[in-house]
Amino acid sequence: MLTQDQTIPGLGNAIAQDIMFVSRLHPKHPIENLNEEQKRRLYEAIIGKVNEVIENGGRYDEYDLFGKPGGYVRLMDKEAVNRPCPQCGGKVEKIQYLGGACYVCSKCQV
Ligand SMILES: [Zn+2]
Repeated sequence: MLTQDQTIPGLGNAIAQDIMFVSRLHPKHPIENLNEEQKRRLYEAIIGKVNEVIENGGRYDEYDLFGKPGGYVRLMDKEAVNRPCPQCGGKVEKIQYLGGACYVCSKCQV
């Protein structure tokens, strides 16, 4: 839902990884199987993460119009692979899904 067909335009794969982690949902979790609690967590994670990225001036690996890098450090990106999960200490894995890379803790995200 977050990365295909631009259901929510502007939400890129980069922030989608952190949204999925915070909402404790696996990227392969079918949308139609989300229960009310999972939908609420996903909704709150989208709002929370978008605001957090804006408040921090964007991602650390991108620049604004004035050449200033952002201050938001992603939780789940290529740097996180094989590092301990920030939540449970388990291993962060990289998986391929729908043509893109996803970074997942399979203990935390179902
Ligand atoms: Zn974890």
